[in-house]
Amino acid sequence: MFPIQMTEMSEEPLKLEQYQKDQRKKTSIRREEDRMSEQLILEPTPLNAIDRCDRCGAQAYVRATLLNGGELLFCGHHAKEYAEGLKPVVAKIQDETNKLAEVASDAR
Ligand SMILES: [Zn+2]
Repeated sequence: MFPIQMTEMSEEPLKLEQYQKDQRKKTSIRREEDRMSEQLILEPTPLNAIDRCDRCGAQAYVRATLLNGGELLFCGHHAKEYAEGLKPVVAKIQDETNKLAEVASDAR
């Protein structure tokens, strides 16, 4: 009788603890997924107001990573203007010109 009572008594809090752990695990997994999908949507390092076009000094919306490791920043206007000429030397283009539309609609 005594050993059975012991297990019955100790089983209850254990279950609860396990349940809480599972809940916590599920929550953290869900958070992990959220973070991962956010990272997938967001560009690696988003351009911000500090980033300026190398040509005219306007806010940059395109970052061109060069094959030699360098970086060039362009506003929407100059990104278009230099796109063709840069193609042979550019490894990656980070295009955030879609933000231009967002900014414009925010100002309204
Ligand atoms: Zn420019």
